[in-house]
Amino acid sequence: MSSSFAIVGAGQAGALLAIYLAREGHKVTVYESRPDLRRTDIDAGRSINLALATRGIVPLIDVGVIDDVDAITIPMRGRMIHATGDPEADLQPYGSKSHEVIHSVSRSDLNAILLDAAEATGRVTIEFERELEAVDLDQSLLRFSNGHVEPFDIVCGADGAGSRVRAALAAKGACTFETEWLDHSYKELTLPPADDGTHRLDPNALHIWPRGEFMLIALANPEGDFTVTLFAPTSTFDSITTAEKVDAFFAAEFNRFARDVPDLADQFLTNPTGPLGTMRAAGWSYEDKAVLVGDAAHAIVPFHGQGMNAAMESARSLARHVLTSPTDRAGAFKRYEVERKPNVDAIADMALENYVEMRAGVIDPDYLAKRALALELEQRHPQHLSPRYNMVMFSTMPYAEAQSRAEAQAKIFADAIADPSLDVDGMVTALPQLPLLDPLADPTALSIS
Ligand SMILES: Cc1cc2nc3c(=O)[nH]c(=O)nc-3n(C[C@H](O)[C@H](O)[C@H](O)COP(=O)(O)OP(=O)(O)OC[C@H]3O[C@@H](n4cnc5c(N)ncnc54)[C@H](O)[C@@H]3O)c2cc1C
Repeated sequence: MSSSFAIVGAGQAGALLAIYLAREGHKVTVYESRPDLRRTDIDAGRSINLALATRGIVPLIDVGVIDDVDAITIPMRGRMIHATGDPEADLQPYGSKSHEVIHSVSRSDLNAILLDAAEATGRVTIEFERELEAVDLDQSLLRFSNGHVEPFDIVCGADGAGSRVRAALAAKGACTFETEWLDHSYKELTLPPADDGTHRLDPNALHIWPRGEFMLIALANPEGDFTVTLFAPTSTFDSITTAEKVDAFFAAEFNRFARDVPDLADQFLTNPTGPLGTMRAAGWSYEDKAVLVGDAAHAIVPFHGQGMNAAMESARSLARHVLTSPTDRAGAFKRYEVERKPNVDAIADMALENYVEMRAGVIDPDYLAKRALALELEQRHPQHLSPRYNMVMFSTMPYAEAQSRAEAQAKIFADAIADPSLDVDGMVTALPQLPLLDPLADPTALSIS
């Protein structure tokens, strides 16, 4: 039974969902507040990139765009740690298996591929510069900022962390949500290419300059530059208000990096400082009329590189529930939330924990000892143990399962380090067997139907 869907927001979640629904025969109209990024240079001069991992790759395979996406990604095989005072960077590989790689991808280029694929279905219309102002759920009307009003049958809120569709659900009492703000913020900067156009750092690694309370990270772009992000306490950003202060801060903390960015102070003072928060919502749908997906339903901090991956995994899950319950839309929306909610809550927690690991753990001897033990035990018992990072990034195991397995593993590592006489192999083999970790190894498992 084909229906007519309105999707608000043409980010990764909205564009991907549009493709899934159109492929099942539904008619889709996407409303996006921004101009068409394929025709306008929205982020002029700046390439913002994201880490794409297995949970995002699987839907891209599903909808047939993986080859196009592959052509614009840069594989990253591990973390390159730039410790204070150490002239040599140290590569910590993500794993020993060939699929244990994450991929740097430009947000706008990825979105452009998804938008093209959506339009290519012939069933998706995308209306740009249409900012939703409010949803009238009683009369099934979308009200736009320019005064325009459109009727809808089913509306999907893919309008990001500040979702207005979610606000409409909340006003109806169908949804409750809470945002927990971190007292840390972020700022994006650009490390330009070297004079000969090449990357100044190894492009096949995610670079981290851990400094305890704050950190800098860098992901390569195909053009030779790196998108660099400073994560730090908001009070640190508030205190760096002049070019002299910018130069002094970077000279003290990231001297080698600073030498390669001639306009660093200018970038720092011009580029916005962004807040970081976790938005948890309960009640993602209203009857058979409205449903939330992606950051609109679950926004997390970016320290596990999973927000977009989780958003696309949710879009896939929603499409599957809609497909398998064609005559019970309201039930499909509920079952989708029941499936996803515990998992997105789990990744929200793990993303927060990963901040401490990235800015401090990666140079902490205790962390390094546990990581070495984890990798060694994984070699010995690959059926029973996989590091948490790898279960999150390189598998489609439900996040909540990855979290609980990781908790059990962490206890074993801590106990084994405290008491080397313990039978650590026995403890590991007593853990339940792992499911197939690499979903790409079994392509038949990929179809949603
Ligand atoms: C610094 C940073 C780094 C990150 N790094 C990673 C990473 O490495 N890997 C990863 O997986 N995730 C990462 N994320 C998270 C990721 O960006 C988001 O989780 C993901 O983009 C969410 O996709 P979405 O489609 O749900 O929302 P969005 O991408 O936010 O899309 C929402 C869309 O809705 C539109 N919209 C909003 N309001 C309206 C309205 N009223 N009317 C019409 N349209 C509207 C917006 O213009 C936008 O196009 C990062 C986030 C940040 C902040």
